[in-house]
Amino acid sequence: MSFFGRVNKFFGGDSKSESTAAYDTSDPHIIPRDNHVISRKNISNAALKVITGLHNAGFEGFLVGGGVRDLLLDQHPKDFDVATDATPEQVRSVFNNARIIGRRFKIVHVRYGREVIEVTTFRGNHQAKAHEQGKRPGNQQSAKSHSGMLLRDNVFGTVEEDAVRRDFTINALYYTTSDFSVYDFTHGVRDLENKTIRIIGDAQTRYKEDPVRMLRAVRFAAKLDFTIEPGTAAPIKELAPLLSDIPAARMFDEILKLFMAGHGEKTFKLMQEYNLFAPLFPETHHCLEQPFAKDLIVQALRNTDTRIHAGKPVTPAFIFAALLWPPTRMRHQQLLKERVPGIPAMHQAAQEVANRQQQFTSLPKRFGQPMREIWDLQLRLPKRNGNKAEQLVENKRFRAAYDFLLLRESAGEPTDGLGQWWTDYQNRSPDQRELMIKSLPDSHQNKRRPKSRKRPKPQANHESH
Ligand code: ATP
Ligand code: MG
Repeated sequence: MSFFGRVNKFFGGDSKSESTAAYDTSDPHIIPRDNHVISRKNISNAALKVITGLHNAGFEGFLVGGGVRDLLLDQHPKDFDVATDATPEQVRSVFNNARIIGRRFKIVHVRYGREVIEVTTFRGNHQAKAHEQGKRPGNQQSAKSHSGMLLRDNVFGTVEEDAVRRDFTINALYYTTSDFSVYDFTHGVRDLENKTIRIIGDAQTRYKEDPVRMLRAVRFAAKLDFTIEPGTAAPIKELAPLLSDIPAARMFDEILKLFMAGHGEKTFKLMQEYNLFAPLFPETHHCLEQPFAKDLIVQALRNTDTRIHAGKPVTPAFIFAALLWPPTRMRHQQLLKERVPGIPAMHQAAQEVANRQQQFTSLPKRFGQPMREIWDLQLRLPKRNGNKAEQLVENKRFRAAYDFLLLRESAGEPTDGLGQWWTDYQNRSPDQRELMIKSLPDSHQNKRRPKSRKRPKPQANHESH
C-alpha cells in the first residue's frame, strides 16, 4: 500500500480557520458509561491492549474516529484507531510490536497478529506551537503548499487541539477505558443523532488543506446514510478539481474505500452530484453520456455491493475494468475504424487508457494485468468453435470475463445473446456442449482445412461490443 494511503491521517488547520473558537473545547460534553452503548466487548482486543499499554506507561490513550462513531451507531467498525499524547517514538518504546510509519505524517502501527492498530499522537495548533517555540509557522514540523495543502504535520498538541484538527464532528469523538466515557469536543454526538456530516472549522480551508476530505464527506454520507450539512457541502463542487493534486497512489487507496466498502453505487452517485468523479476518472467522465456507459458502471458497483454484503470476494481488477471500459471501448472502436485488427486494437486501447489513468489513480500491476485480461477475453468469448469454448472455460480469468460480459449485456450493449449462450454452455453435459458448438452458425468455418487451401482473410470486424 502507498505511503500516503496508509499514513496520511492528518488533521490540518491554522489558527484562523481552526474553530477552537467555535467549539469550547475546554468544556467537552462528557457522556458517562451508562449513557452510551459502547462496551469493551465490542472493541478489538488489540485496540484494548494498545490503550491499556499506553495507560500503564503513564500516557493518555483514546479510541477515536470510525471505531467510536460506528459503535455509537451500533455498527461494526472497520478498524480501530487510537490517539495518544505519547510521541511516536514514545509509543514505539512502549510496544515491542510497533513501527513508525511515514516521515511527513508520523504515525505508529502496533501489530497484534493480523490486526494493526493505528496510533496517532494528538496533533496541535501549528501557529500557536510555532509561536510558543519562537519559530515562524512552516517550520520543519509542518508545511503547506501554495494552495493551502498540508504537506507535513508533526506538530503535536493536546486532545482538545487534536479534536478540532479531525475532519468531521462525528469522527472527533474520544472513548477511554480509564473512565469508560465518551468525550465530545465538537458536538459530534448531536450530529450523529441528526445524521449529519459536518466539517470541523471553515469548510473551504479544511478542503484546501486536504482535498481528500471532500471524498470522505460523500463516502461517510453514503455509508451511514447521513446528510451533508449545507455549509459542509457548499464548497465541494467548486473545489473538487483540487483532487488532481493528490498523489495517484493515495488516490488508488481512496478509490478502494469509495467503491469496495459495500456502498459503491450510492457513493458513485454522490460523487457525480458533487463533481468528484471527473477529477479521478477524467476519461470515463467524458464518456458517461454515451450509451451504456453509466449503466455499466452503476451495475458493476451494484453487483459489487451485493457481493460484499453476501461476504463474497471482490477485486479491484473487476471494478477498474468496469470504470475504464467506456473510454477503452471507445478507443477500441476508433482503432477498428482505422483498420487495426480487433485484438491488437484492444491491446493498444487498453494500454493507452490504463497509462493515462495512472496519472490520476495508480493501478498496481497485480490488478492492471487481470483487468486487461478481462477486456481481452471480451473479444475471445464470441469465438467458440472447435475446442475454443473448452479452452476458454479453463482460462483462469474466464469467470470474471463471463461476469463482465453479463454486465455489458445488462447495461444494454448488444452482444447477440452471448451471455445466455455461455450460461447455458456451463450448465450442459459434455455431449450437449458438443452439440452447442456444432450448431453455432459459423461452425463450418472452423473445421480444419487441408493445408494447401488458402486461409480465409480475417473478418473485418471482430467486434461483439
Ligand atoms: P473508516 O475507518 O470507517 O473508513 P474512519 O473515520 O475511522 O472511517 P480513518 O481513515 O480510519 O477513517 O481515520 C481515522 C480518523 O482519523 C478519522 O475518523 C478522523 O478523525 C481522522 N482523519 C482521517 N483522515 C483525515 C483527514 N484527511 N483529515 C482529518 N482527519 C482525518
Ligand atoms: Mg478507521
